Amino acid sequence: MLGDRRVVVVGAGVAGLAVATALAQRGARVCVLEQAARIAEVGAGLQISPNGAAVLAALGLGDALRAGGVLNRAVELRDYARGRPVLRLDLARHHSGPHPFVLIHRARLIGLLETAARNAGVEFRLGETADPATLDAPLVIGADGVKSATRRLLNHESEPFFTGQVAWRAVIRDDAVPEAHVYMGPGRHLVTYPLSDGLRNIVAVEERAQWAQEGWNHTDDPANLRAAFTGFAPEVLDWLEQVETVNLWGLFRHPVAPRWCDARRVLAGDAAHPTLPFLAQGANLALEDAWVLADCLNRLPQAEALAAYQAGRQPRVARAIRAANGNARNYHLRNRLVRGLAHGALRLGGRILPQAPLKRFAWLYDHDVTGPAGQRPA
Ligand SMILES: Cc1cc2nc3c(=O)[nH]c(=O)nc-3n(C[C@H](O)[C@H](O)[C@H](O)COP(=O)(O)OP(=O)(O)OC[C@H]3O[C@@H](n4cnc5c(N)ncnc54)[C@H](O)[C@@H]3O)c2cc1C
Repeated sequence: MLGDRRVVVVGAGVAGLAVATALAQRGARVCVLEQAARIAEVGAGLQISPNGAAVLAALGLGDALRAGGVLNRAVELRDYARGRPVLRLDLARHHSGPHPFVLIHRARLIGLLETAARNAGVEFRLGETADPATLDAPLVIGADGVKSATRRLLNHESEPFFTGQVAWRAVIRDDAVPEAHVYMGPGRHLVTYPLSDGLRNIVAVEERAQWAQEGWNHTDDPANLRAAFTGFAPEVLDWLEQVETVNLWGLFRHPVAPRWCDARRVLAGDAAHPTLPFLAQGANLALEDAWVLADCLNRLPQAEALAAYQAGRQPRVARAIRAANGNARNYHLRNRLVRGLAHGALRLGGRILPQAPLKRFAWLYDHDVTGPAGQRPA
């Protein structure tokens, strides 16, 4: 169905690069327009779960993902003050399976995707801010992120809203165990995990009444980060002491877009469904979108393909976003008694049925959009 159709992709983030590659590998003539002068990502990490790794493998990047990242052994929730384990998700079984959990530097993942896109013949026009209303192509894919102009055009909406949370992102030199650790405190939490090359990634989230800064992120004084996480476990304070440069992000969101497409425009990734980072799924869902969209366009006439893509993806991304919002509440419990009871219940549950917490997420991590047609939209 794709033949050598001309497709314009707006945005060279994870969603744009992945969909461009998937389409070009199926014969489409793809051009990516990116407003930045070069394709780059902020220095921070990404957790790629098996559902996202499946797409990277199908794009031919499975070995490069394993080689470029760190295999994540476990996600462990900890209490903020003493760092005592509350719940452990043992991920080891995934590493003997077809698709691993990988911790990877964003810049490295973007680099892998850009190389795959170029190898598949994708053309890039960098430093070009596209206006999706005037782009003249049989198909325009708006992979233009949370501030998407394509989304505004299709849904006639205003700007995204501030979620009441800010996130510092930093990287320090440290040899960390290959696990992700989440320290849960009142109104804030900190996630840390290793990246390859002896780096440790830190994401620290705090609730705030408002975001007063111009723009979406800015460089911050590491002293502000240290002050916000006073009272956290000694190892956390040690890591924060080592932070030399840090960026602070306001976390903004939209609800899942009601309308993802018209006859010749369609959304993918954060443009369609920005999510809070508390389930580490934004990039993974963007990868899934990319594969499903390319697959639908390859099998069906365009109008049917776009409708099948939206119908297939919307319930799943909505479920993932609800789960991420739930984590936001549960990580940040403010009342000491409630927090103690909740953590106690999780500890007990984890001791009685250690595999149960991970099984609860089988719908998310074991979903393979590249697999048999049973998992794909009709
Ligand atoms: C603190 C934090 C931690 C996170 N951790 C994880 C994680 O561990 N795992 C995970 O899966 N996800 C994570 N995420 C989410 C993930 O980063 C995003 O969901 C993902 O990067 C979205 O990719 P995207 O391609 O849709 O959008 P973006 O990455 O925002 O890309 C959009 C691109 O479009 C370009 N663009 C926009 N408008 C135009 C225009 N008009 N013309 C041309 N170009 C344009 C932009 O310059 C940009 O390059 C995290 C997010 C945050 C904030």
